[in-house]
Amino acid sequence: MGVCTLTVRSVETGPHGGHGLLLQHGELRLGLDVGLPGVTTLLSHAHADHIGSLSGAREVVMTRQTLEVLRARNGTVRQPVRTVEFGKQYEFGNATVTPLNAGHVLGSTMFLIELGDGTRVLYTGDFNTEDSLVHTAAEPVEADVLITEATYGSPEWVFPDRPKVYDAIVTSARRDIEDGLVPVFRAYSLGKAQEATALLSQNGTVVASGNFVIDRVNWVYARYSQSLSWVDVADREALREALSAGCAIVASDTRHLWANLQRHLGHTTTRAIVGRAKEYRLSGWSLHDGSVPHGLQARPHEYPPRWFRHAQPSGFPLSAHADFHDLIGFASAVAPRIAYCFVGPVHEFAGHLAGRGIDAVPVG
Ligand SMILES: [Zn+2]
Repeated sequence: MGVCTLTVRSVETGPHGGHGLLLQHGELRLGLDVGLPGVTTLLSHAHADHIGSLSGAREVVMTRQTLEVLRARNGTVRQPVRTVEFGKQYEFGNATVTPLNAGHVLGSTMFLIELGDGTRVLYTGDFNTEDSLVHTAAEPVEADVLITEATYGSPEWVFPDRPKVYDAIVTSARRDIEDGLVPVFRAYSLGKAQEATALLSQNGTVVASGNFVIDRVNWVYARYSQSLSWVDVADREALREALSAGCAIVASDTRHLWANLQRHLGHTTTRAIVGRAKEYRLSGWSLHDGSVPHGLQARPHEYPPRWFRHAQPSGFPLSAHADFHDLIGFASAVAPRIAYCFVGPVHEFAGHLAGRGIDAVPVG
């Protein structure tokens, strides 16, 4: 293996936080989800913590899907953009770069970087090794160097099987609607909101979007053949009809949701809906954040837990990331000589990899 130096830059990314890495190998310098003067940036996906510090990049490389959802979320890239396709090879200096599906959100990309001396480097960005209703699982490829996210890189983060989480969400929505309530599922506007919309609508629940950004991202997903069915928040008549017949709402920001409803349906109607609303958070973090009753967190093999029929959780552990087992399994399949771990409990995760015979270095 040649001389391959990875450098982590501390970056100012505004209110969303974030991370950025610099891959340096001889003359070659590539920014990974960060812009550096005169350096090409490989952008893994359009979530806020990855696009917050692109300024200064010579050019930003991303999939067309990432560019479209980035624009749908009001994001702008002032630098020149080069769009790339999954599975094709692109030359950057003396490196060959192949974008690969990361399974995290629409357009999300892992980059396989083959250096001039033959060293293969895999940068994962955020990734998910499970199929979801709207995304296809990331597949590992062998590489000498793995640069892996470690968001859930601790053994307490093992998620229940996705079909069980799906069942719990669908059951909960149906039960609420039967009880005259309005279930409101809070989810990231890119990725989780579309998964929730697909899940509920495919299981017979009418879904209203609560935010304009979700509407716009939904339309991008729909262009790439994802089967979504929803009521636009701006479609006043359809929204009124859906709410009076019984529907779920998918929203990224409930303050904006109530403001949007007030604008379209008026104060009195909105107050009545607020009074019937039941909020749920869709996030991997909900596994341990107290949004399920204390002491009753489900172990993966017994999800949904016994209490579910009698208690109302306020969150469902639906994640767009690999969980601890998935992270370990992925790294083992890549079989790198060295792994760099970024974001999350990086020291702990590096220790777990080292314990399985993979040299691992925490970065960031
Ligand atoms: Zn992400």
